[in-house]
Amino acid sequence: MAVKISLVVPCFNEEDNVERFFDEVQTVMQKSSYTYKIIFIDDGSRDKTLAHLKELYARANTVVKVVSFSRNFGKEAAILSGLKHADGDYITIIDADLQQSPGIVVDMVNFLENNSEYDCVAAYQKHRREARRLRIFKKVFYKLINKICNVEFVSGASDFRTFRYPMVEAIISLPEYFRFSKGIFSWVGYKTYYMPYEVQKRNSGTSKWSFKSLVAYALEGFISFTVFPLKIATVLGCITSSLAIVYLFVIIYQKLFCAASFSGYPTIVGLILLLGGIQLFVLGIMGEYIARIYVQGKNRPIYIEKEIFGE
Ligand code: UDP
Ligand code: MG
Repeated sequence: MAVKISLVVPCFNEEDNVERFFDEVQTVMQKSSYTYKIIFIDDGSRDKTLAHLKELYARANTVVKVVSFSRNFGKEAAILSGLKHADGDYITIIDADLQQSPGIVVDMVNFLENNSEYDCVAAYQKHRREARRLRIFKKVFYKLINKICNVEFVSGASDFRTFRYPMVEAIISLPEYFRFSKGIFSWVGYKTYYMPYEVQKRNSGTSKWSFKSLVAYALEGFISFTVFPLKIATVLGCITSSLAIVYLFVIIYQKLFCAASFSGYPTIVGLILLLGGIQLFVLGIMGEYIARIYVQGKNRPIYIEKEIFGE
């Protein structure tokens, strides 16, 4: 029977969640009339996730497919692999920890069935249940990135999304190594409907995101989706040279007309430090881009699939 919905589920150390997740999906899907398939990507879990997934496959090999990575390649890589394995009219990305209720998937698909002008439904958090520090950080990030990028980033929208198949084809056609999904989903275009939802508590285990990894992720977003920071070099260069010229004029004027005597030492040290700092900053920005060109240039695969169960 042709599959209607494929669920792509990245799993990293989710041994206590995958079974409950599977049961919940089954309950929800059997209530709807849609045919479905679940593609679990074991992203190099170090606990018993893979063993549990194999059990699920043994239990329900018609609806379960398991892809296991040779090591942890990150959620973005797992999503890409899952999307490549997925088929059917609708493809959903959903976490394994039950923070995103499988019931919503049916609502998303119903919406797309009834609204042919939309190609994607993205769930977004209306009320963020997060620490203040995190909320402020995210707010600043979205303000900034939307100002300087020409693709739109919607605050609170997660990668809990359902796509029509053609949009998935567009997404997997982007070969970039550094995959910032939120940017990619928006870059490929198509029409997205934002559906509000409530994030649930994690069923078991802890989030893999630390504040540090979130900052790195945000930087990734900037560097992958804008070359604006490279332009900072030009702007800083213009500002400092103009300031230097003004400063020189002031000195000449004072020397000629005010008969001031200068001890040049402090000014020189100050200027050297200032210019040195600016140069290092700009070099650092360039380094970030060059590093990415370097890694992409090696043309390594984004992930390695060690085992696949199911078709
Ligand atoms: N995940 C993954 N690889 C990783 C980190 C996370 O596949 O390197 C999966 C994880 O198993 C979960 C989903 O990505 O299904 C979301 O992770 P998490 O719950 O830690 O993120 P949060 O919900 O806190 O944003
Ligand atoms: Mg989670």
